[in-house]
Amino acid sequence: MALSETYQEETSTMRNEIQDLRTNARIFQLSKCTACTFTLDLPAVHFMCMHSFHQRCLGDNDKECPECAPEYRAVLEMKNLEQNSKNQDQFFQQVRTSKNGFSVIAGYFGKGIISKTSNGPAEALNSSSDF
Ligand SMILES: [Zn+2]
Ligand SMILES: [Zn+2]
Repeated sequence: MALSETYQEETSTMRNEIQDLRTNARIFQLSKCTACTFTLDLPAVHFMCMHSFHQRCLGDNDKECPECAPEYRAVLEMKNLEQNSKNQDQFFQQVRTSKNGFSVIAGYFGKGIISKTSNGPAEALNSSSDF
């Protein structure tokens, strides 16, 4: 029973906060530009993170908050690094353990981009021209 009581309390707090958001226009009452700290005037851009900017302060980049985007990117990069770390470990281990690291790197390239531009099709053309 104690559990459900806390749950109800939490939901009511959440409801209050939502009500707050609906009734208060605090997001759009921000009076200062985060970039230049001068009073906002139109045209202004408001982000969901509660940061507001003059459109001229944002320039072309009005899709993401420049105040929060670097943090967001760092998180994204961390996630990418985690995902790639396995592949990279394997790659560097192969380079380290092989006597000729270059051949490993060349091998990786050969599997990818270079194989498309290799002279495989050209050879086929040559052999057909022999007829
Ligand atoms: Zn500004
Ligand atoms: Zn922001």
